[in-house]
Amino acid sequence: MQTLREVLEQSQQRGVAIGHFNISDLILLKAVVAAAREIDVPVIVGASQGERDFMGVREIAALVRSLREESGVPIFLNADHTHSLAKAEEAARAEFDSIVFDLSALPIDENVRQTKEAVAVLKAIQPAILIEGEIGDIGTGSEIHETVIDTSKGLTTPEEARKYVTATGVDILAPAVGNMHGMSASMVHGEARKHLDIQRIADIKKATGIPITLHGGSGTADEDFRRAIAPASTSSTSTPSFASPGDRASKPASPNNRTRLCPTRSFPPSSTP
Ligand SMILES: [Zn+2]
Repeated sequence: MQTLREVLEQSQQRGVAIGHFNISDLILLKAVVAAAREIDVPVIVGASQGERDFMGVREIAALVRSLREESGVPIFLNADHTHSLAKAEEAARAEFDSIVFDLSALPIDENVRQTKEAVAVLKAIQPAILIEGEIGDIGTGSEIHETVIDTSKGLTTPEEARKYVTATGVDILAPAVGNMHGMSASMVHGEARKHLDIQRIADIKKATGIPITLHGGSGTADEDFRRAIAPASTSSTSTPSFASPGDRASKPASPNNRTRLCPTRSFPPSSTP
């Protein structure tokens, strides 16, 4: 089985992106694997801190490993948005393929200092693990916002990106390029779309030379996705966020109850750390 690094390198050469889908239960995990198998593509499964607390860090890793062996599908496991070194170390020890070490809420100097330290610590635990760093403002959570989302603030510049990647040694970068976590109610209804800054993506890509992730993909215009992934401005992974199917099974679609009924918020965390 190829490593995530090899798959990302190949995807860059081919000018394609790898889909990343967050899971918080076995139903969604099996759906992601079945879809990847059906269309014969590699896929990254993501579990945020809350999703890992809910399912158990080692339990998710064991499930993904088991499905990977059984299905033959190149499934990779990412510790999505991890805000502390202790939580990142848990994922590294459980043999996740990658970790999003997200200190984007801190001042940039502190983000750089702590991310650099984390890269060293996490690679000492698992040398093959890929660390993703984040700069700029792409919001938090996958909620449905009642108001229109302003994606024009806190955009990452190519120079900031280059300095950050050089100083920290991260393998993957999550910049702010018009993307944003969550969706507005108008996006849920298909009346509005997020738009990406394609030129900025191309410039950041060129300045850093490493794979870029596009977080908060849900609600983005399809054409923008295609242009962002094109060879000239390769975006290697994208991270659509969406509510778990458990939400919709419980109640008819409504922007607010979809958020409240997310299983990780409705049930207590796994007793296993
Ligand atoms: Zn994200």
